[in-house]
Amino acid sequence: MISVIVPCFNEEETIPLFFAEMEKVKKNITHEFEYIFINDGSADKTLEVLRKLARTHHFVRYISFSRNFGKEAALYAGLQAATGELVMVMDVDLQDPPELLPQMVQLIETKGIDCVGTRRSDRKGEPPIRSFLAKKFYQLINRISETEMVDGARDYRLMTRQMVDAILELTEHNRFSKGLFSWVGFETEYISFENRERTAGETSWSFWKLFNYSIDGIVNFSDAPLNIASFVGAFSCMASVIAMVFIIVRALLFGDPTAGWPSLVTIILFIGGIQLLCIGIIGKYIGKIFLETKKRPVYIVKETEKKLEQ
Ligand code: UDP
Ligand code: MG
Repeated sequence: MISVIVPCFNEEETIPLFFAEMEKVKKNITHEFEYIFINDGSADKTLEVLRKLARTHHFVRYISFSRNFGKEAALYAGLQAATGELVMVMDVDLQDPPELLPQMVQLIETKGIDCVGTRRSDRKGEPPIRSFLAKKFYQLINRISETEMVDGARDYRLMTRQMVDAILELTEHNRFSKGLFSWVGFETEYISFENRERTAGETSWSFWKLFNYSIDGIVNFSDAPLNIASFVGAFSCMASVIAMVFIIVRALLFGDPTAGWPSLVTIILFIGGIQLLCIGIIGKYIGKIFLETKKRPVYIVKETEKKLEQ
């Protein structure tokens, strides 16, 4: 059986389109299917759409959160609930083309690999500034983190039960799936496809949401910023010792010609700035530790399809 995990946040328009498309593709695959839709605290009629689907199709399940916990939490909930031997993760907006499914299933079964991922070969239809920043982000994170993250890789992937179980063993609260999928290892092969635009609805990722998400990715998978902070600290410390020696020697040889307060102010500002920056970086990590130690659940379920049976 294949479990299909679909996170949904305000997707009342796209769910029926997605479901119809998937049912079409399903005909080319002999496996049994199980859908797990996660309603991530939508404010529209998503939950009602899901209830209706689950009522009419026994293989449709849903999990509805008590509020918006974010896509990462939704994915985690879906992975925990999945019962299939193969587990599929995909977006509901048809930006992850369902037509690739048969190919992915075939690849994973004939090649005996653990995971088939997908990547976009281009970023057509996306604002250029977003593409540019995304590219820079991948360059940066791949340089400073040991976990490899493939540029353009989507969350759209098919995994074996073994790999899913490995991912579920990572119980951290701050989840950055792209990193987690890669961190657990296993053999992954990528298929490329051309970027598509959303069928309906709107993207729920604003610039700031994406920016914070990328900072999360860096802080969760790299301690390079901490190393940079220590390095900058050590460097400015050394520089100030050299400057001090220079000033003392100069004062001894030539006397103290003028009161050099402009340079003094500049140095104070410079050092102060570095200190604040470093404290900020350290603060980011402490914040993560703080959240992690509270051991709060990653999500809270308000309702599932079991409610319909009562
Ligand atoms: N999503 C979610 N919770 C959120 C934001 C998004 O479950 O807080 C889901 C959304 O319904 C969609 C997928 O994550 O199925 C990808 O979102 P979107 O298409 O808005 O992102 P984009 O494709 O623009 O990166
Ligand atoms: Mg999308």
